[in-house]
Amino acid sequence: MAPHLRPSADKAIHQFSFVDALVVGLYDGAFPTSAVLERGDLGVGCGDSLDGELVIIDGLAYLCRGDGEVSLVPADELVPFAEVARFEPTFSRTVTGLSEHAFESLVESLVPSDNLFYAIRVDGAFDRMTVREATRQQRPFPGLAEAVQSQHENTVEGTSGTMVGFKGPDVFQGLSVADFHLHYLDEARAFGGHVMDFQLRDARLTIEAYSTFTLHLPEVESYLDAELDDIDADADIRSAESS
Ligand SMILES: [Zn+2]
Repeated sequence: MAPHLRPSADKAIHQFSFVDALVVGLYDGAFPTSAVLERGDLGVGCGDSLDGELVIIDGLAYLCRGDGEVSLVPADELVPFAEVARFEPTFSRTVTGLSEHAFESLVESLVPSDNLFYAIRVDGAFDRMTVREATRQQRPFPGLAEAVQSQHENTVEGTSGTMVGFKGPDVFQGLSVADFHLHYLDEARAFGGHVMDFQLRDARLTIEAYSTFTLHLPEVESYLDAELDDIDADADIRSAESS
């Protein structure tokens, strides 16, 4: 294995709730943001009642809402889903002139295996960035496939900022997101969300590998009472998470 992307035995990805829970509409905030940030300083997630996308950069959690507003998430605010890592990249290189597809192919060629987790951070300039933000859902919560119908999508030309997220093994689809899951926040902390598509101009790519995955289950009533024995969510996740 390439030594620069060897997982460290004492480190783990921490995920709070899992994607199939979102697929069936379990959007109740369950984890204090402070508890999420105790486990990692880089990551992704979503807001209470699916109200926007979380972008966690340098230990700060930002919420990018469907109305375009970006704000810092208070420590005591509960979130339904988040995935974080204490990011200490062991690989770094400059990248220029890449479509989303070319970027993913490049990362795939750099990592030693598709069967580990990787945290990814990209800092730099993009010629184009398309993000979506989920919008606040009303009870009774619809499933994710229906909820994303009301998502807000936005493209900007010429933006500088930070893209963070993960690449996970395919077999974790449903628990986590198979393959790439990236969120973006611009330098001004004014535009961001779940990454749908981009054209990268010039940036620094950093990566860290993980072989340990820790899952924190929600303890809220809606989760404890949920029927989760018959989920075939793959198609729903793919349509909701991929571009
Ligand atoms: Zn996302």
